[in-house]
Amino acid sequence: MRLSRYFLPVLKETPAEAQIASHRLMLRAGMIRQQAAGIYSWLPLGYRVLRRIERIVHEEQSRAGHIPMLMPTLQPADLWRESGRYDDYGEEMLRIADRHGRDMLYGPTNEEMITDIFRAHVGSYRDLPLTLYHIQWKFRDEIRPRFGVMRGREFYMKDGYTFDLTEDDAKHAYNRHLVSYLRTYERMGLQAIPMKAEGGPIGGDYTHEFLVLAETGESEVFYDAEITDLTFGDREIDYDDHAQCAAVLEEFTSRYARTDDTHDEAVFHDRVPEARRRRSRGIEVGQIFYFGTKYSEPMGAVVTGPGGERVPVHMGSHGIGVSRLVGAIIEASHDERGIVWPEGVTPFHCGIVNLKQGDTEADSACARIYHALAGHGLEALYDDTEERAGAKFATQDLIGLPWRITVGPRGLKNGVVELTSRRTGESEEMSPEAAVARVAEIYAGR
Ligand code: ATP
Ligand code: MG
Repeated sequence: MRLSRYFLPVLKETPAEAQIASHRLMLRAGMIRQQAAGIYSWLPLGYRVLRRIERIVHEEQSRAGHIPMLMPTLQPADLWRESGRYDDYGEEMLRIADRHGRDMLYGPTNEEMITDIFRAHVGSYRDLPLTLYHIQWKFRDEIRPRFGVMRGREFYMKDGYTFDLTEDDAKHAYNRHLVSYLRTYERMGLQAIPMKAEGGPIGGDYTHEFLVLAETGESEVFYDAEITDLTFGDREIDYDDHAQCAAVLEEFTSRYARTDDTHDEAVFHDRVPEARRRRSRGIEVGQIFYFGTKYSEPMGAVVTGPGGERVPVHMGSHGIGVSRLVGAIIEASHDERGIVWPEGVTPFHCGIVNLKQGDTEADSACARIYHALAGHGLEALYDDTEERAGAKFATQDLIGLPWRITVGPRGLKNGVVELTSRRTGESEEMSPEAAVARVAEIYAGR
């Protein structure tokens, strides 16, 4: 993409309404525009990141064998009356009446709807296990929308629902989700720690929240420092293997890590030596939940078991905050000059800065680099504007592309351009071909 033809409305001033870095930087980098409290347009640069995150989520869901679909944003109130949640949900639910006076709502989540689909089409244990998910906009009329897309009212979420015959199978589905989430967040360059969360009405251990450590996070967290040494990496895993998935859960959840909802100071002291005790803050980027027959029973999601008996299915629901992740990644990865995108989610793979637009040599070198990158399947944002070099660098630093190739007449005389890492700030001179090859190598397999 040539910057001269793109739509990147960067702001020079720091917006006063933004309290935290990610919100400020998203506004300044022209990624989002607020349309109403907690409701945003995703401008082209922000939209690119949202799509990249969404794609990683889809790829990892597919790897785990989960099936994508799409449910609507608007739902009939009657479904929620069946589960009893229409009255319980309170003011966070946006309630709407259509022209016939029928009660509708903008979905804050989809347990009721998926249960309705299930009961209409699945009747036998032979159709289980089943995991369906979608990535769809949600609306929750949050009392205090803030921090930009981190706590919006309209937000984009992946929510998956598992249906199993037995509690054991449902727990495997839970473990499988935990494993796939670990991979998902790591691909985005994030460490998201599964922490024991509030069990809710069903109780028990069967819910974990995934938290990204950040001072600006809304949750207070308590954990054993050892947990931050764990990485999932690119190990092979068979998602159908109950023992393998259970072992990963054990590895990642056996150390103390809890949010303030479940934190117990005595247990913390008992289990974690003082030197390893950490109190910090975190951003919740996902949650997994096994809740048994909470919805299947009242809503009649029942199958015929192997012995002919009718049994309500065991269910779980599993969410990832796709739009919140854009902010969370920035919170975890920025500096005083701007965003520093991890390679896995960057809106463009590489920036190209032409130091002397209009210089024949420089223009044609930039065009060659641009096309060579495209030949490797890489997208570059080529700053071909008439701006001063300093302004071009400031924009590049603000929008945070991990790599930048700087091209100028002086370097070209010696046959070199400059390749710069946004993260370290280090630059290296090399031929244009070598710079392209290096960038291609960095992204190979991503
Ligand atoms: P929170 O405690 O932050 O309000 P939640 O526990 O109510 O979130 P879930 O129902 O678990 O949210 O939703 C799954 C994921 O969706 C959350 O882990 C979070 O990442 C994201 N999410 C929830 N509410 C919002 C919101 N208002 N804005 C952006 N993302 C959200
Ligand atoms: Mg949650």
